[in-house]
Amino acid sequence: MARKKRDIDPAEAKTAILEYCKRKGALVAGIADLAAIERICPPGYRPGDLMPRVKSVISLGVGGQTQGAWSVPAKALGYFGSTESRAYTIAYGLAFYIENKFTTPTIYCPPDMDPDAGPRVPLQSLKVHAELAGIGARSLAGDILLHPEFGYMYFASVFTELELEPDKPLETNPCPAPSCVSMYRQIGQTPCMKFCPVQCLTGEVADDGTQKIMRYDMAACAEMTQQFETVPAAIMEAIKATDEPAREDALFDPDNKMLWYKMSVGSGGLLAQCFECMRVCPIATKAPLADPILRAEAKAAE
Ligand code: SF4
Ligand code: SF4
Repeated sequence: MARKKRDIDPAEAKTAILEYCKRKGALVAGIADLAAIERICPPGYRPGDLMPRVKSVISLGVGGQTQGAWSVPAKALGYFGSTESRAYTIAYGLAFYIENKFTTPTIYCPPDMDPDAGPRVPLQSLKVHAELAGIGARSLAGDILLHPEFGYMYFASVFTELELEPDKPLETNPCPAPSCVSMYRQIGQTPCMKFCPVQCLTGEVADDGTQKIMRYDMAACAEMTQQFETVPAAIMEAIKATDEPAREDALFDPDNKMLWYKMSVGSGGLLAQCFECMRVCPIATKAPLADPILRAEAKAAE
């Protein structure tokens, strides 16, 4: 027997949805203004292009890694620094929760790349969703979203035909932090710019200490951190090799062997960041609730 659709109170539905996110481990969640997303994102990449009857976009964020993680060498952090899969798990569950509780069509928004546009163009901008939902603000580190309390986070989105009241973007941007402004005044760079190993971040801080210009060389960052594109290059080199030793070099060179290893274990290290911009970021590492230790201490002090 078909389940009877009941009247849904949008305010109650929103509360239940945001509570679900928090219960499952999200630190923040909110509703993005759908009309604003549709205005900002280009045709083909708007929520309505993926889900024609979408009425609301829910965005949620989980915390970055543990406090201890910031002290490990880059070669180790590259393997486990990202926590985005936790955000995706919550969003996936949320889609099922909404359909079950509110009998309204809902989808987990794929965080993946558009197969028609190649590996640099996502199907949807989770960043725009999170920014408009008020759970992160753009930083000078390649527009990575930072939260004034939780610092560095990972985000996921859910689209639903439920009508939910949108939230507003954050009123203040924690980036640049006061210490970053001081460094910029002295050397013309903020910590993320100075310590990026491939110098792909540049920008300007205005006289009032706010962001003026952010420049991000995505290709340079990707070459350093997103090795999935290195895989076909290594195979091409092997195909083009004119003799056996050269082919062997192309496939079994120690660097390339690491690629095969990362692929075989499904390592996020193939598409993660190198994290050096965030390792030196005072918001990512020192925001009041940036890691589990700080959150536990804050709870104990309540
Ligand atoms: S992830 Fe690494 S390469 Fe990319 S901007 Fe940050 S520090 Fe630079
Ligand atoms: S280090 Fe962090 S807070 Fe400072 S400018 Fe860079 S992203 Fe912003």
